[in-house]
Amino acid sequence: MITLRGVTKRFPGPDGPLTAVDDVDLHVPRGSVQGIIGFSGAGKSTLVRLINLLERPDSGSVLVDGEELTILDEEALRRRRTKIGMIFQHFNLLANLTAAQNIELALRIAGVGKAARAARVAEAFAVVDLSDKADAYPAKLSGGQQQRVAIARALANEPSVLLCDEPTSAVDPRTTITVLRYLQEVNERLGITIVLVTHEMNVVRAIADDVAVMEGGKVVEHLRLDGSPLRPQTEIARFLLDDRIRLRP
Ligand code: ATP
Ligand code: MG
Repeated sequence: MITLRGVTKRFPGPDGPLTAVDDVDLHVPRGSVQGIIGFSGAGKSTLVRLINLLERPDSGSVLVDGEELTILDEEALRRRRTKIGMIFQHFNLLANLTAAQNIELALRIAGVGKAARAARVAEAFAVVDLSDKADAYPAKLSGGQQQRVAIARALANEPSVLLCDEPTSAVDPRTTITVLRYLQEVNERLGITIVLVTHEMNVVRAIADDVAVMEGGKVVEHLRLDGSPLRPQTEIARFLLDDRIRLRP
């Protein structure tokens, strides 16, 4: 479960402070999938980075599983973060380590003892059906396989929350479906709460329970994906829903 209340984040800009995330309220129930969609610069990445406090908010509160993160000291926050997994567009695996060593390292950093690590690595690979690639280096894996290793790495620390920043933006449409299937399984079988940032409506429509539409740092609309017809209220939501590309008049 994630609750953001009045969260604002500003960055210094050439023309004075730029409000990247502007007074956002968001509640993501435990075990649900929250989509976040919007154009480039809308504040999506900043918003997910605020959830694990990779960015510190200027104001507002950030609760994960009922715990207020903004009041934790660095050490407590570091420990807390190990239970918040994150995956990225470009996978962010270390190139000089094998797939298994990448996961092993994440576990070591999180303070998991040596005896427990091998079992956790094996379990994580099993979830993403990649046990046969454990000893491969990232360069020898396809983009989809690398993203599955990144998912396995995030899962190895048994997180309650998985933050995904454009996890399918660097893979082809078929691989997108594979990655989404694994995320869906992680959500349904392990009960992990997922936040999924994308600029593609088809991606969030596939697995999200609710989509927050962002523009100019604000959540301007929620689209509930409960099977009832979508009735977008804002121009931007209408545009994102109708994702055909038309160049001719
Ligand atoms: P994209 O779809 O391109 O990834 P986004 O919706 O993820 O975009 P953010 O990366 O959250 O957008 O950026 C929101 C705004 O905040 C942008 O105007 C960006 O330039 C600015 N911004 C983000 N990070 C920083 C930073 N570290 N320093 C200064 N400005 C930043
Ligand atoms: Mg981004």
